[in-house]
Amino acid sequence: MMKFKLLLLLAVLPLSMLLLSCTSGKEKPYKVSRIAMDTLVSITVYARSEEKAEKAMDNAFKELNRLSDLLNFFSETSEVALINRSAGVSPVKVSKETFEVIEKALSVAEDTGGAFDITIGAVSSLWDFHKKTLPDPELLKKSLKSVGYKNIVLDKEHSTVYLKKKGMKIDLGAIAKGYGADKAVAVLKNNGIRSGLVSVAGDIKTFGAKPDGSSWRIGIKNPRPQSEGEELIAVLSLGNNAVSTSGDYERFFIKDGIRYHHILDPSTGYPASGCRSVSIITKEGVYTDAFSTAVFILGSERGMEVMRKIGLEGMIIDDEGNISTTEGMKGAVELVRKH
Ligand code: ADP
Ligand code: MG
Repeated sequence: MMKFKLLLLLAVLPLSMLLLSCTSGKEKPYKVSRIAMDTLVSITVYARSEEKAEKAMDNAFKELNRLSDLLNFFSETSEVALINRSAGVSPVKVSKETFEVIEKALSVAEDTGGAFDITIGAVSSLWDFHKKTLPDPELLKKSLKSVGYKNIVLDKEHSTVYLKKKGMKIDLGAIAKGYGADKAVAVLKNNGIRSGLVSVAGDIKTFGAKPDGSSWRIGIKNPRPQSEGEELIAVLSLGNNAVSTSGDYERFFIKDGIRYHHILDPSTGYPASGCRSVSIITKEGVYTDAFSTAVFILGSERGMEVMRKIGLEGMIIDDEGNISTTEGMKGAVELVRKH
């Protein structure tokens, strides 16, 4: 009897292993890149058929477009635009998504002593990185008075947002893309995808294992490549996680030898100094996005402190090119080069 069971086990084992490898063997990668949320979005999924992959990816892009319609700072018809137009006038009833992003943005503002502040809108709208011109200093000074996240009033019960002072503007540019990556991944999962990657510019989220068991690998850009072949500074292995990178090399111009970029210190209205690039890893893209911007503004030392306190993993490249990583990150990061 015993022998029979053993034989049965032996017979069944390889068969089940074969089945497993067959099904996973059928999963192939599919990738689509499109413009969404005003940037380049790439989605990769593993699926058994092209039809299943395309349907899932299509739905994920629809979700990103829906969110963009709610959260876009530059569109007149978004909920964010309506909130900004109603500053100092009246609270605005918003969708649960808009409310959730603003609520989370406020928690990051609290956690970072106001380095992260979505009311930066009054100031960020004065900077033009295409025209490469500095804002008028007087105007900048005046607009700084409209910055202060403590003047945002949230009413959860009625799902309303109110900006207390006229002239205040919220800009979700440092948090919406990461939130979008989270939501796009949720849509892929609801469409039966078990393994995939969504990147909304520098905000990336991965889930599930690849059929061959290898982990998702994400390249981190070198903020100061000197020549061809120096594009990457590190490679990260990512499991069921999100990673975001904020850098001074994405949207910037150089004038009179000074680099002006789009990550602004809310206490001055000018670009934050001290870092070239910050990458943060955690479960949710909404937080990796917000904290990568916030830690960039805090600078290497204070940024590391906040990361330790909150339990975030990450990597900072300071303004001299020095690289610091948190303890937990050390196993996941492979440096390509020092500078
Ligand atoms: P990217 O948009 O390149 O991914 P970030 O996520 O770091 O980079 O976001 C930068 C954007 O965030 C800016 O373009 C601006 O819209 C907004 N922003 C700038 N400074 C701040 C700040 N101190 N707090 C919150 N948002 C900010
Ligand atoms: Mg960000």
